[in-house]
Formats: sequence, structure tokens, C-alpha cells
Amino acid sequence: MNRRVTHRDGIHFDVGRLVVADARSAAGDVNVVSHAHADHTFSSSPETVVCSTETAAIATARTGVDFDFVESAPGIDLVPAGHVVGSRAAIIEAGDGTRYCYTGDFSTRDRAYLDGFDPSAIEADVLVMETTYGHPRYRFPPQAELDTAIREWIREHDDRPLFLFGYSLGRAQKVQWLAREAADRDVLVTSTIDDVNRAIASATDLEFSGRPTDPDELRERAGVSAERSTRDPLTDEIVVLPSNQSRRGWVDEIAESTGALKAGFSGWAVDDSYRYRGGYDVTFPLTDHCDFDELIATVEAIDPDLVYTHHGYDEAFADVLATEYGYDSQPLKRNQTTLGDFGR
Ligand SMILES: [Zn+2]
Repeated sequence: MNRRVTHRDGIHFDVGRLVVADARSAAGDVNVVSHAHADHTFSSSPETVVCSTETAAIATARTGVDFDFVESAPGIDLVPAGHVVGSRAAIIEAGDGTRYCYTGDFSTRDRAYLDGFDPSAIEADVLVMETTYGHPRYRFPPQAELDTAIREWIREHDDRPLFLFGYSLGRAQKVQWLAREAADRDVLVTSTIDDVNRAIASATDLEFSGRPTDPDELRERAGVSAERSTRDPLTDEIVVLPSNQSRRGWVDEIAESTGALKAGFSGWAVDDSYRYRGGYDVTFPLTDHCDFDELIATVEAIDPDLVYTHHGYDEAFADVLATEYGYDSQPLKRNQTTLGDFGR
């Protein structure tokens, strides 16, 4: 029997019809988009897809690609995945009654305005899960403890500009949320983050306080541009930026001249190298994914007959599941179709 679940462009479920999740091109009879991160959305206009209203709004705002969507289809149900606003896991039922749970990116933690994924509500024979942090090194502090540490750090540095870096969709909004809770300070965001803020506000009742700015305005206010206008100097604002901008020259130039501090937010902050690579003064393991223990707890709560892992520590985690927990488990390697399957 051919394996029914494969990792190609997206995850393919060959269940009588072809269901494709999170692909760049819409190759399935049915196409699922779990959430609006760039690596999970279409690069061109697809046929009707299954996704949440929020995901459709955010993806369209970010890519300019408009698409028709439905929130469920015969044999496919979506449930909240707790990763970012609008993220969903998919329950896919095959013609023979086999139930697949595709988690997409997920987190079981309730955080700020997001409810976590609830594995106790899932019934599935086969679990297809992302395992970004599927190594025991990645254990994150309890959410309340982490949020408190971040708010305290913001309060401790109330006399300096703060540059906070996080992924544009997800961490950037959580950080704005925590900044607003921590201090009565102006929050500035880049245009990329402002676009995401607006898309979320258009599809939900959430609002984020960041006012859009750009590098030129920040450099001018910091007094490091040719304009040398310091009538409105950058003194104690909180600036939220995409994490891929942490090493930009203009960021360090402003930080040096104003005494701004740079903070990074990611699960990878568990590794010291994350701080050095990003040039951060401080890092916090604030993430939108499960840590190792939460991944294990998810498998145990769903208790499937078979687990496929993908992304991050897919091999290591499948190995732990098999050897320490007795689950049939296998990493889902991209474009690998010849490995023996488990009959489903
Ligand atoms: Zn994601």
C-alpha cells in the first residue's frame, strides 16, 4: 500500500481525494491553509481553500493575493491551533473512516489574546505534527512567569528607548500587548508590522497600539541622519521591529547614539547563540510553538496509532516517541516516498 501522508510542496493526504495542507501551489482536490505565515500561504491565486476567516484576511493583506475560502468542507473540520491569530489544525476523515489530525504550527498555551490548542478535544488515528522544538533542550518557563519577566524588564528600563524584535505576525503583536501592559509609553512599529496589525483588526476585535514609523524617521529623531533634526528626539519610545532587522546598520547606529536596548523574542533564545547572532542585549524564550514537554503531552492526550513528525527536530522527536513512549512514529521527510509505511 502506498503511504497516504507525504511531505512534498505542503503535506499531502491521499485519502480517496487529495487533501493538501500549507503548500505554495494549490495542487489538491481540497487545499487547507492552517495559518497566514508566509511559508504556509499561496504565491498565486488558488481554487477555493479551507481556512479561517482571520487567516484569509491576514494572508490577503500580507500577499495581495485574494482567494475564496470556506471554513469547513466535507470530511474536513478546523479547530483552533493556538499558534497565531486565525491558526487552525485540520481534522481530515478518509473514506474508510480513518481520522487524521494535522496540527499545522501550534501551541497549547493560552497567551495574551490567544487560546491554546486543546489536544484533549481531538480524536484521531493518525497525528501529523510540527516538531520545531522537539528536543528536550527546549523547555520554556510557564507563560505567566515569562510574561512577568518581560514586563519587569520593560519597566526597569523606562528611561531608554527599547527595540523589541519579533516575527511580524505573532511575536510582534504579543510584544506590543506586553509593552502596553507594562508601561504607559508610545509604541512604534514598522510598516510590515502595521500591515499585520491592521489585517488582524479588520478580522477580529483585537487592536494593537503601535504607531507606524520607518527607519528614516527613527534616524532623524535619534539625530543620526543628515537631517540632524532633534526637535522631537527619540527618548523613551518602545519600537517593535521584525526580527530579521536586528542586525541592520541603522538599528545599531540608533542604539549607540540613544542608548537604546535591543531585545529578541523566540524559543531559540534557549540557545546562547541566538543572542549573539541577533546582536541582542537580552532575549526571552517567548514563542508561538510548543516546547518539548508540550509536544509529548499533545501526543499522549490524542493517543493516536501513528505519529508523523515534520519540521525542526522531526527525527529526534519521532525517535523519542518510539523508544521512550512506544508510539509508532516516523519523521515525514520532504519528497521521500519510498520508505515503508505503516499501512495507512
Ligand atoms: Zn507559523
